[in-house]
Amino acid sequence: MGAALIPIWIGLGSNQGDSPAHLQSALAGLAGLAVGRVARSPLYRSAPVGPQDQADFFNAVARFDTVLSPHALLDRLQSLEQARGRVRARRWGPRTLDLDILLYGMQRLDDVRLKIPHPELSRRLFVLRPMADLDPLLRIPGHGMLADLLTVCPPLRLDPVPWSGAEPPPHI
Ligand code: AMP
Repeated sequence: MGAALIPIWIGLGSNQGDSPAHLQSALAGLAGLAVGRVARSPLYRSAPVGPQDQADFFNAVARFDTVLSPHALLDRLQSLEQARGRVRARRWGPRTLDLDILLYGMQRLDDVRLKIPHPELSRRLFVLRPMADLDPLLRIPGHGMLADLLTVCPPLRLDPVPWSGAEPPPHI
């Protein structure tokens, strides 16, 4: 019998360098962790959360099935981040590539390395909106319906941009 396939959701973000290229490359990397195809959301450009003296972010989410454990998955995501030259400078500061585990099936996890569902998920429009684009009827463990979270989520400037030909954020 094969290992169980777990449907997972990953949040992708970037606001340094050629962000759409970083996200495209991350999607190619995620394909190597997936069993079957990777579904990608539309691409959005969003105002930074936290320090405002940084460029807009590019955000998307990806959904796919995997046989990896949550911690093995996190290890692989961190390798993908490092491959795009991510430097951890300050919290919520600029980053070439940020990959978060949003959901791991319907499981809930809370240890020193991993909190799933991702603790910020319910307050981040740049995560909820693209998740709803892929699955408007999704239920988030411990939070209820995604559609209900969307109606109470703090507002944020969030503009859809085409995946191809998206301009990198202005350099600051
Ligand atoms: P960040 O700087 O936002 O990428 O946070 C990185 C740290 O968050 C990692 O070292 C992880 O151990 C931790 N972390 C906790 N929960 C998650 C999650 N659901 N997805 C990704 N990283 C997580």
